[in-house]
Amino acid sequence: MNRDYYGILGVERDASDNEIKKAYRKLARKYHPDVNDTEEAAEKFSEISIAQEVLLDPEKRRIVDMGGDPMSQGGAGGHGGANFGGGLGDIFEAFFGQGAGGSRQPRSRVQPGNDALLRTQLTLEEAFTGIKKPVTIDTAVLCDRCEGTGSQSKAKAHTCDNCGGAGEVQQVQQSFLGNVLTTSTCPKCRGVGEIVPDPCEKCAGEGRVKARRDLTVNIPAGIADGMRVRMAGQGEVGHGGGPAGDLYVEVRIAPHEVFQRDGHDLHVQIDAPFTDAALGAKVHVEGLDGEAVAVEIPEGAQSGQRVIVHGEGMPLIQKDGRGDLIATIHVHTPVDLDHKARKLMEQLREHQSERAEVRVAGRQSNSFFGRFRNKFRR
Ligand SMILES: [Zn+2]
Ligand SMILES: [Zn+2]
Repeated sequence: MNRDYYGILGVERDASDNEIKKAYRKLARKYHPDVNDTEEAAEKFSEISIAQEVLLDPEKRRIVDMGGDPMSQGGAGGHGGANFGGGLGDIFEAFFGQGAGGSRQPRSRVQPGNDALLRTQLTLEEAFTGIKKPVTIDTAVLCDRCEGTGSQSKAKAHTCDNCGGAGEVQQVQQSFLGNVLTTSTCPKCRGVGEIVPDPCEKCAGEGRVKARRDLTVNIPAGIADGMRVRMAGQGEVGHGGGPAGDLYVEVRIAPHEVFQRDGHDLHVQIDAPFTDAALGAKVHVEGLDGEAVAVEIPEGAQSGQRVIVHGEGMPLIQKDGRGDLIATIHVHTPVDLDHKARKLMEQLREHQSERAEVRVAGRQSNSFFGRFRNKFRR
């Protein structure tokens, strides 16, 4: 059901923006209406244009990579206009379909169901390992009494005798302008053109009822805040027992007390006493999987300096490999020195023969650490 946007452009799933643009331009030269005015080409051109738009939009591309289709109707792309109230935790009150409206044909009594959106909160650890997350959804399911027919006896719907199946009725109204013909939705069949003879008592002829369901969502390792996992056919059952929409589970990741995430990278702050900063040291950071990761503070480290440990960040989604762990070192000046420490410091200052001074642009820094490092390395 989802369009294969990568396939349409003939690019790999990890194609860069440039490769996507290149592939698009190549195909556009073949199918552009100025070059090829067949109907087929026009369709193809529109297809590749949409594919390019989707794949160049990080948010839309992410939905594709999660198995969704950002251009499908139902608003899973985040522009459906449905109001997803916050603060509901796991439980999302599914929204029931609104009338299609505006069409001249009677709308079908059997309608496809809407997609549903559910939010779930994860810890960063859960996002790191991936998780089978139980969720609860309030949604419309097929009425078991009438099996979706909407009829107590499961009888087939018959054509509405009020509108003859058109779904709307015309009335002549007299006004000061003369007779005016007005068209309105047939009140008997509510615009559907069909009537269920003996409406089901359980669902009042809707063919579906509200129900609470417990599901398990398979959340892949490396998932990021705001991503959505699609569960095909787990959305709302349509009016008249129409096919169910999809359920999208949007992931929210709680802030972590140690790590800050940036894409696939994890940032961590390390507080280092100035002795460790001067002499170098090794610190162990407990990773999100509980494994210790060694971070090497280089000798002569300055406050704000970063140490990158490759391959110790977040896992890439549905791919091998991981981002980096990036440690930012904060050098701490000692306070509350005891007698011995003070003595040592004074000796060190004497030894270094240095004093704070005003910085002059373009001149080599003459700071304590700078000189200390030079001495140390000699
Ligand atoms: Zn029913
Ligand atoms: Zn009618």
